[in-house]
Amino acid sequence: MDNGLNYSGRKVLVTAGAAGIGLAIATRFKDLGASVFVTDVDEEAVQRASSSGFSASVSDVSVEAQVAELMEEVDAALGGLDVLVNNAGIAGPTGPIDQLDGDAWRKTFDVNVHGQFYAVKHALPMLRKAEEPTIVNLSSAAGRLGMAGRSPYSASKWAVVGLTKTLAIELGGEGIRVNAICPGAVNGPRISAVIDAKAAMLGRPVQEVSDLYHGQSSLNRLVDAEDIANMAVFLAGPLAKNVNGQAMAVDGNTEKLY
Ligand code: NAD
Repeated sequence: MDNGLNYSGRKVLVTAGAAGIGLAIATRFKDLGASVFVTDVDEEAVQRASSSGFSASVSDVSVEAQVAELMEEVDAALGGLDVLVNNAGIAGPTGPIDQLDGDAWRKTFDVNVHGQFYAVKHALPMLRKAEEPTIVNLSSAAGRLGMAGRSPYSASKWAVVGLTKTLAIELGGEGIRVNAICPGAVNGPRISAVIDAKAAMLGRPVQEVSDLYHGQSSLNRLVDAEDIANMAVFLAGPLAKNVNGQAMAVDGNTEKLY
């Protein structure tokens, strides 16, 4: 029985798909039958992904020429593309606005926003040939709410939602759906590093800041990467055929970020 989550024959690209949330998303698509290509800047992670059955190559999404080359590799490996998951994103610097470095600010936008622009631009020729093509962009709870001390990250993730809503209108007439996912704090090494940086900025114990992060969710817990993967496979498939231009929160209900 086809439960709407059968991805056999579907071709999926997950950026930054060799580790973290991206790997969880790539794995879920692969387990549901998709041919999955992952790309990442981390060579070792790409090698590991390649040994686990993914098509994979090294690229930095913030460099347009590398993204253009990546799409040629995807076309050669998969013979087209049905689903683009723009997952790559960095945490960026933590600190009060007047102490942030301009290069670190720009780098956050280069990866989190320009990376998605380059990927959509260069994937479009393949997506236009696909049946029921979809794009899923990773935003954040920080793309719906403010986050003190994390202004470049929050601003970049609001930009992702703006890009998503604009592309949903621009590409909707061609049948290309574009949605975003806004995860709350996800269990894993990255959130630990963010909590450490935030504790240092506030001069408060790490455990206290960690408790605040858990308490951001009404469920009083962090999100798992697999929860984000579940939303991605829902959004990219026929169960979501009339879901377009949405920023879907997967955060246990979060109304305030620390
Ligand atoms: P992560 O920091 O664990 O990084 C995952 C992978 O991204 C790494 O393998 C890294 O090498 C790769 N990467 C970094 N820069 C890259 C670039 N320029 N090009 C290609 N690959 C690159 O990230 P994560 O926690 O798995 O987050 C994935 C996405 O989810 C990001 O967009 C992030 O902003 C978003 N998100 C994460 C959380 C969280 O709590 N972790 C919460 C909300 C949203």
